Amino acid sequence: MAMDTPGSQSSLHRANLERVLRAVRMAGSLTQAEIARGTGLSAATVSNIVRELKESGTVVVADTSSGGRRARSVSLSGDAGIVVGVDFGHTHLRVAVGNLAHRVLAEESEPIDTDVSAQQGFDRAEQMVERLLGQAGFRPDKVIGVGLGVPGPIDVETGALGSTAILPGWTGVMPRQELSQRLGMEVHVDNDANLGALGELVWGAGRGLGDLAYIKVASGVGSGLVINGQIYRGPGGTAGEIGHITLDEAGPVCRCGNRGCLETFVGSRYLLNLLNANHPGELTLSKVVQLAQQGDLGCRRVIADAGRQIGMGAATLCNLLNPRRIILGGDLAEAGELVLSPIRDSVSRYAIPSAARQLSVVPGTLGGRAEVLGALALVMSEMGESGAIRQTAAAGA
Ligand SMILES: [Zn+2]
Repeated sequence: MAMDTPGSQSSLHRANLERVLRAVRMAGSLTQAEIARGTGLSAATVSNIVRELKESGTVVVADTSSGGRRARSVSLSGDAGIVVGVDFGHTHLRVAVGNLAHRVLAEESEPIDTDVSAQQGFDRAEQMVERLLGQAGFRPDKVIGVGLGVPGPIDVETGALGSTAILPGWTGVMPRQELSQRLGMEVHVDNDANLGALGELVWGAGRGLGDLAYIKVASGVGSGLVINGQIYRGPGGTAGEIGHITLDEAGPVCRCGNRGCLETFVGSRYLLNLLNANHPGELTLSKVVQLAQQGDLGCRRVIADAGRQIGMGAATLCNLLNPRRIILGGDLAEAGELVLSPIRDSVSRYAIPSAARQLSVVPGTLGGRAEVLGALALVMSEMGESGAIRQTAAAGA
């Protein structure tokens, strides 16, 4: 392949091609006008690029209507490549196989014990990926990449999993290498909160938005921040650790070593402890939500108080980032208005009015699938030039 001089006609063309492909890949399908708006390219340039991509079989174009007018929607061809998502949660291992046209072709979830070793966990993930690829009828060499979700922070420099409240024996393992060695595929890894944010951005309650925050409240508390359509991770990969903002300097000691972090007031262990004395038997957060919806006053109070505290964190996010939407995920989100309404009250109390006015606080629409769908979206977002363009160039040659 000839080397392109930066700024030359052909490198500019390739850059434009990649911008169009990326916009379509992340949205699932777009009209040509939407592509032009999203990429800043002229209508004529978009039209030429779409024609070229259609001729090479990379995209398909279908008639649709937009605002009552006829339009043409562009999406990636279903056989442009396969992506795989793997999500390790606190009680489950979930795997999905999808294509670049945003269709999920196979998906399964299995229960997993919190004391499972990393070796056993990755062995099971390998078996599930192979089984689901078989079910969907694809050979492993059709897979462009695998997105992997882990319930804890990933050290950007070493790739090691940091301290996690959910899979305690896994601290220090290298998730990307573990799975990539087993599958022989390129693996991209991220934490559950970032993947939940990506999932809701691409498939759920955040579709079409460029700026949002996803707050996940379960055993741990974290957030994924989307700024200008991209996950913001920070140089160390720890951006969004909203669970560890201090609400009370003299509060309980947190697993991070500080005191009175948000997580110590709304994490599931704390909430369940509050209810243990009056609710004999094994309680889970889902069960608490169910009891609250049936009118149990103690459970309603605990959820409402948690909402107020989450709202203090949400107000801080709102002041710092001015997101358009805050999406609540995790087990507590199942409580709907019982938790959302106190969150909104806190936001209107603690956030500056001009930022709070533009903000909506909503539940995620994907539930427990947010992370695994976010893992599929992670591959689409990280694949960059390598996959689709090479295929296009080859097909066009
Ligand atoms: Zn903490």
